[in-house]
Amino acid sequence: MNLEFDREHIWHPYTGMREPLPVYPVKRAEGVRIELEDGRQLIDGMSSWWCAVHGYNHPVLNEAVRMQVAEMSHVMFGGFTHKPAIELAEKLLAMAPVGMDKVFYCDSGSVAVEVAMKMALQYWYAAGNKKKTSFATITKGYHGDTWNAMSVCDPVTGMHSIFRSSLPVQFFIPRPECRYGESCMEGDLAPLEACLRNNHEQIAALILEPIVQGAGGMWFYSAEYLKQARELCNRYDVLLICDEIATGFGRSGKMWGVDHARISPDIMCVGKAITGGYMSFAAVMTTAKVADVISSAEPYVFMHGPTFMGNPLACAVACASIDLIRTYDLQAMVGGIEQQLKEELAPAVALPQVADVRVLGAIGVLELRKSVDMAKAQAEFVKEGIWVRPFGKLVYIMPPFIIGSKDLSVLTSALLKVVSKM
Ligand SMILES: *Cc1c(COP(=O)(O)O)cnc(C)c1O
Repeated sequence: MNLEFDREHIWHPYTGMREPLPVYPVKRAEGVRIELEDGRQLIDGMSSWWCAVHGYNHPVLNEAVRMQVAEMSHVMFGGFTHKPAIELAEKLLAMAPVGMDKVFYCDSGSVAVEVAMKMALQYWYAAGNKKKTSFATITKGYHGDTWNAMSVCDPVTGMHSIFRSSLPVQFFIPRPECRYGESCMEGDLAPLEACLRNNHEQIAALILEPIVQGAGGMWFYSAEYLKQARELCNRYDVLLICDEIATGFGRSGKMWGVDHARISPDIMCVGKAITGGYMSFAAVMTTAKVADVISSAEPYVFMHGPTFMGNPLACAVACASIDLIRTYDLQAMVGGIEQQLKEELAPAVALPQVADVRVLGAIGVLELRKSVDMAKAQAEFVKEGIWVRPFGKLVYIMPPFIIGSKDLSVLTSALLKVVSKM
C-alpha cells in the first residue's frame, strides 16, 4: 500500500495537505473489529460515523448486495423504477413517524438536507407565500457540509464560520440547555418562541436534530423542548424539518429521535445507518400535504433529481439493513448498551480532565475541559486496541449495536485509561 502517495495526493476529511494527520491503513473489517494492514485489530467505537450499526462484513447485507449486483447496479430513476426502490419506500413509510407519506431518495446526508430545505421553500412558493425564504435553527447543530446545510450549522463553532459572509443568513436560537430526561424551565422555550413570533413571516421552516445534536456538540436535550417546538411551529405556521441522519434507526434507543417526544415532523431526513454503512445513501420523507401543495402550483414538479437517485444497490442493501433492524429488540440491544455505558463511563466524572459525562442509547460522551490533540489521542487509542476519533473537547463512542458486553467493556476501559492520562 503506497501510503506516501496517500499523504501527498489524497485529501481526507477535514485535513490539510501540508502536514496531514496520520491515517491508519485498514485491510478488512468484520463484526466490531477493524483490522489494520499490520494485523492489529481495533474494536470499533465509531460505527464509521453512525453508519455501521450491524458491524462490518455482515453476511445478510453482503448477500443483498451480491443479489442486486447480479441484476443491475444502477439504472436512471428518471422514467424508470425498480423493485428495490419500491420495497425500500414501503419499509421506510411503514416505520416512519405518523404522517410521513412520500419519499425522495438522495445520495448523501448533506444532499438530503439540501433537498429538505428546498422542499420547504418550494412548499411556501407553491402556497403563494413568497416571503418565507429563511430558516430557523438552534445553535451547536450540524447538518452537513454543502452550502445550505452549512448555513444552518452552528455559526461560530460549526466548522464553517469562515464561509459565513457568503452563506444565506438564517435565524439562530440558543440550543436548549435543558438536558435529556429533564423537563424544560419556563425560559428554555422563550428564545424560540420570540424568534418565531417576530420572524415567522420570513421563516419557511425550523430545522433541527431531534434530541441528539451530533457533530455540533454531542448534546442530548429535553424531549419536552422538541414537543414544544412542534407546537410553536404549528402556532406560527412554520414547517418542522427533523434531521434524523444521525439519530435514525435506533441510535438513541428509540427508532427515531422524534419518538422521544411523540411528535411528527413535516419533513424528515434519514441517512447514515440507512444502508448499514454499506453505501452513501439518504432519503427525505414528507407529508401528503407538503407534496400536494408543491405539486399544485407552477412548476408542478419538485425541482430536484440527482443522477444516482434511487440507486438499486443502495436501495437493496437498505432494505436488508432495515429488515435486520426490525428483527432487533432495540430496547434490549441499545438499552443494554446504554445501561453498560452509564455504568462503565460513570467513573470518568471523577477525572479532573472531564467536565461532563452523558449517555443516551448507544452513544457515550465524555466532554473534557480542554480540547484534545486528535492525532495524539488517536495514536493512544490505537495502542489500546480501540478506534475512537475525538473532536474538540469531545471524546465519544457510538459502537455498532451488535457489540458484545465484553468488547464494550474493552472499549470503555481503554477509553477511560487514555483520557485519564491526557
Ligand atoms: C452526518 C450528518 C449529516 C451529513 O451527512 P453526510 O452523509 O455526511 O453528507 C447531516 N446531518 C446530520 C445530523 C449528520 O449527522
